[in-house]
Amino acid sequence: MTSPAEFASSVVTRLRSAGFEALLAGGCVRDQLLGIPPKDYDVATSALPDEIRDLFGRRKTLAVGASFGVITVIGPRGAGQIDVATFRRDAAYSDGRHPDSVSFTTAEEDALRRDYTINGLFFDPLTNRVIDYVGGQEDLHRGIVRAIGDPVQRIAEDKLRMVRGVRFAARFGFALDEPTRRAIQASAGELVICSAERIAAELRRILTHDSRARGVQLLESTGLLAVMLPEVSLLAPDEGWSPESTAETPWRRTLHLLARLSEPTFAVALAALVREISLADDPRSAVAHMPTHDMPHRLFERWRLSTHELEEMTQVLRDEPVVRDARKLPWPRLQRILSAPRIESTLCLATGVAAVLGDGSEGVAFCRDVLRRPAAEWNPPPLVTGEDLKHLGIPPGPAYRALLEAVRDAQLESQIHSREEALQLVLAEHKRTGGNA
Ligand code: ATP
Ligand code: MG
Repeated sequence: MTSPAEFASSVVTRLRSAGFEALLAGGCVRDQLLGIPPKDYDVATSALPDEIRDLFGRRKTLAVGASFGVITVIGPRGAGQIDVATFRRDAAYSDGRHPDSVSFTTAEEDALRRDYTINGLFFDPLTNRVIDYVGGQEDLHRGIVRAIGDPVQRIAEDKLRMVRGVRFAARFGFALDEPTRRAIQASAGELVICSAERIAAELRRILTHDSRARGVQLLESTGLLAVMLPEVSLLAPDEGWSPESTAETPWRRTLHLLARLSEPTFAVALAALVREISLADDPRSAVAHMPTHDMPHRLFERWRLSTHELEEMTQVLRDEPVVRDARKLPWPRLQRILSAPRIESTLCLATGVAAVLGDGSEGVAFCRDVLRRPAAEWNPPPLVTGEDLKHLGIPPGPAYRALLEAVRDAQLESQIHSREEALQLVLAEHKRTGGNA
């Protein structure tokens, strides 16, 4: 099977044999130099989109990005696909989001239109040489995220670059170059003109990476977080957090919690980010001037998240305190929480919260123990269904739910063990409540 790296080299070789310039470009070069396996490979070339398609064949290429000069080449099994982009220069950015047009040009100009020096490198896989027009290698060695060219202008062209800069700094543990940082601070407010989807996509990548606490801290110190999440002012952020600092303020607890999460989904990390904000909004508290009940719903609308993500955020915030308190809970109630979909997400958040607050680890451990046991032991199939109630002649209606729940409770409490006992209980309950429950 061809690996993605081998396929990338073969694409470069093929373009070069056909007389074009071709190099690996951008993130894959950076990652390789950092010793991180690249997520995907991009090729930059002097070939025009039509020439790329002619060379690799229509059937092996996709032209979704052709208007920016990007052709996707589909590899053999296991090799994935590779974006092959014509060297380009971006014309003016009059809207602060995308270029008005693009035109095709040289490798050097293609490097200069990229956002950060560490993202502006090329690599020749045939000679194993790095081609660096922007000083990216030195910044990689020094650990610096620096805009290519004038940071103020580069951010004015595309405001999303501000969040991207923070993302790369956090992900690699790099510092923001001082002029770049100042430019971000000065323009943070303009992030609002970027689409919700693009902002959310960057935030998703910041929050699902291990470096998320540092990412959020950088978003805060650059002023971007206040634009993305104005509610954060309720936590009175300060700059003094480090992973070793003690967690005494809501803001620092939030960063500690983010740092503690182990491979969270985006929804769980978002829930962690807003957990203290939701708590700060106790209507009796002094900061209630900014009502933040239902933060999940706010985030859902603000960043056009999926309803699945909304439900996941809501569930984990609601259930994490319950899970931490598991030992004190009646079993039927806890059992329903443990058998809910996405319980892993709830436990992920609860584990972090328990560690930060020093409260509830036994509850979480207890839940994990239960979940490790065979399902038949702790989540047996129900003894009766709605069909059974119909057969007993009980008219369908809202009472069904209550009856089934009562039977389920009794089953989980080991008060009943068979279908017969369950049906008897249904009839007794039906009679007792006069059909109203
Ligand atoms: P990742 O590994 O996170 O995907 P990446 O560097 O590959 O990192 P992409 O968003 O996939 O990031 O972009 C690929 C390359 O395109 C970047 O390395 C950069 O050179 C260039 N690029 C992407 N977005 C922008 C932008 N908004 N402005 C300028 N250049 C950009
Ligand atoms: Mg990429």
